[in-house]
Amino acid sequence: MTNLFIFNSDFRLADNPGLFHAAENGESLVAMFIYNPKKWDSHNESDLKIAFQIENLKSLSKKLSELKISLKILHADGIEEESQKIFEFVKSKNIKEVFINKEYGINEINRDLNLKKKLASIHINLNSFDSSVFHPESIKTQSDTFFKVFTPFSKAFRSKLLTKKIKILGFPKKQRNKVLESDEIENLSLKSERKNILELYKADEDYAFDKLDEFIDHKIHFYKDKRDYPAIEGTSSLSPYLTSGVLSSRQCLFRVFEKLSEEEEGIRTWVNEIIWREFYKYILFHNPRVSKNLSFSEKYDDFPWSDNQDHFIAWSKGETGVPIIDSAMRQLKSTGWMHNRLRMIVAMYLTKNLLIDWRKGEKYFMQNLIDGDFASNNGGWQWSASTGVDAAPYFRIFNPITQSEKFDKKGDFIKRWIPQLSSAINIHDPSSDERNDLGYSNHLVDLKESRKKAIEIFSNFSK
Ligand SMILES: Cc1cc2nc3c(=O)[nH]c(=O)nc-3n(C[C@H](O)[C@H](O)[C@H](O)COP(=O)(O)OP(=O)(O)OC[C@H]3O[C@@H](n4cnc5c(N)ncnc54)[C@H](O)[C@@H]3O)c2cc1C
Repeated sequence: MTNLFIFNSDFRLADNPGLFHAAENGESLVAMFIYNPKKWDSHNESDLKIAFQIENLKSLSKKLSELKISLKILHADGIEEESQKIFEFVKSKNIKEVFINKEYGINEINRDLNLKKKLASIHINLNSFDSSVFHPESIKTQSDTFFKVFTPFSKAFRSKLLTKKIKILGFPKKQRNKVLESDEIENLSLKSERKNILELYKADEDYAFDKLDEFIDHKIHFYKDKRDYPAIEGTSSLSPYLTSGVLSSRQCLFRVFEKLSEEEEGIRTWVNEIIWREFYKYILFHNPRVSKNLSFSEKYDDFPWSDNQDHFIAWSKGETGVPIIDSAMRQLKSTGWMHNRLRMIVAMYLTKNLLIDWRKGEKYFMQNLIDGDFASNNGGWQWSASTGVDAAPYFRIFNPITQSEKFDKKGDFIKRWIPQLSSAINIHDPSSDERNDLGYSNHLVDLKESRKKAIEIFSNFSK
């Protein structure tokens, strides 16, 4: 009577519905991780994120062993191979039932459908669980359709929170017998500078939970006032843990409401961000177009994006001549993470001032972020490019210099990443002479002119 649980993107023991239910009968349980570099590559997953998940798995492996749960590593070559490999494993090990947590990308939905069919042919159940706060089908408009705008979605979400108190699950039950020897977990080979970045993020479920508690006990009260300033640590920095499911959105909300009242604005603002995360997953679930490399809004299918590769490379290297953009891109390269305000500024600059396809920026972010999350990343990029659901209107283009003056007033963030600008008189936009003297790039494009051009082109597509 052995069950099988497959880790998809929830690398935690607590509040893990698939794992919890797989362990319920208490006899024997095998947990599985699928090592699939071809899939990671085709989904543009960053090596940092995968290495972070593997480190978390190692930490989980010890805890699973104490619960007498074996951990097996299955190798597959592409997502299409996963269901067949799992099916063969199930047959060869005499598995009774299979448990997973659902993922909402189109490839993952198809893989699970395939697996379900194969398992049904040998009379085995695939039990899939939802690890979002509310199942995407359970939040509807009054006319029984699905939301496309955040504010009414969040209202519906919050009223559901009032009527349906969040419950979280405990740890999986200790098993009576450990049936298989656990496998050694293979490391992902990382270049030495990437290894150094990985060390910035401790991979451990208890650590993530303590980090959440620390945020709720202190910083959350200042969140509303501090969250937009990249030079200070005013946000929770929990995104790597949420993306890899080391922590769940449900645990975050449960803990906030257990300890605090939402009447305080800072708390309400942070809860709203967790709801944004759930909103983008909801959008992914209801709109398969989003997983097909297409704009949410069909009218942008033939948009004349620029294919200026030199501009794209300059942007990605942090050499655009706009200090706030260049420092943000350098932060991403050196830490695998970027502040939210900066993500919006660099994305808008790429898609509006440079008119480069948002998909190129989306891919570059996925390949470099430790918290690269398909739904949130796609949502953030399409918001900035004005092609997405509830997106920024195309004519409201951020001026990166004004943003810099407002959110990095003293230039502390810029100085950290571009030290040669420390002595600049106008750190947000140095004069040409100063750029020459300090060895800093000139503007790649004129900000006013490029803004005007973007508005003209977008207005033709928005009719
Ligand atoms: C172009 C672009 C790309 C982005 N790509 C990603 C991505 O790949 N992965 C990712 O997790 N977030 C992404 N975001 C959202 C946001 O920038 C990050 O979640 C945030 O910076 C993480 O920092 P934090 O954990 O300190 O967040 P906090 O401000 O403390 O917020 C708490 C949590 O709420 C969620 N959250 C916050 N803001 C957003 C948002 N705008 N959309 C969705 N969820 C949000 C995150 O899970 C975050 O960890 C992107 C935003 C933009 C504009």
